[in-house]
Amino acid sequence: MIVTIDGPAGAGKSTVARLLAERLGYRYLDTGAMYRAVTLHLLEHGGDAEAVAASGAWQSLADDPRLRGPEVNEAVSDVAGRPEVRRALRGVQRSFLRRGDAVAEGRDIGEVVWPEAELKVWLDADPAVRAARRMQEVGSERAGDAILERDRRDAVQTVRPDGSVVIDTGPLDVAEVVDRIAALVAARSA
Ligand code: C5P
Repeated sequence: MIVTIDGPAGAGKSTVARLLAERLGYRYLDTGAMYRAVTLHLLEHGGDAEAVAASGAWQSLADDPRLRGPEVNEAVSDVAGRPEVRRALRGVQRSFLRRGDAVAEGRDIGEVVWPEAELKVWLDADPAVRAARRMQEVGSERAGDAILERDRRDAVQTVRPDGSVVIDTGPLDVAEVVDRIAALVAARSA
């Protein structure tokens, strides 16, 4: 089964998707990390965004701690806004998902990358909650503002799929969100 988890930055997608994949024994696809790796490659080596995305050279940076640093946060939305970059990365994402059982996390997975997903989840939370969470994680007020700014820039790519199950993560902790989605998966595979 393919489970998609989309939603804005700071809604808790990464933690939830990773834990859910572990619980189910599914593979985990973090598509934000792919856009981040292309961006880091461009910041490091320059070059043409479309060519870098298509070449796969960015894949060597998949585990680099700088993927989550402020430079990449600042630049990633512009890179992700380029249609040719999206086309290249969507191709890689689809090859991963074609192999079956996976939890895929991003902005456009349920709507564009894998519309035939058996379960589509939309994780959301109030902007103030998302900013406060990021502020706590990073320990600076600027990080909270930055997340809302990134949201604005990402608005075009962030699509709530028809038929998705919407979960407001504001009042829930991570374990509760994972439990809810795991229950939906169990119901759909029964
Ligand atoms: O989810 P994460 O914050 O790691 O995503 C980083 C950036 O990658 C987002 O701000 C967005 O610009 C881009 N992205 C995207 N489409 C996706 C996943 C991420 O455009 N499916």
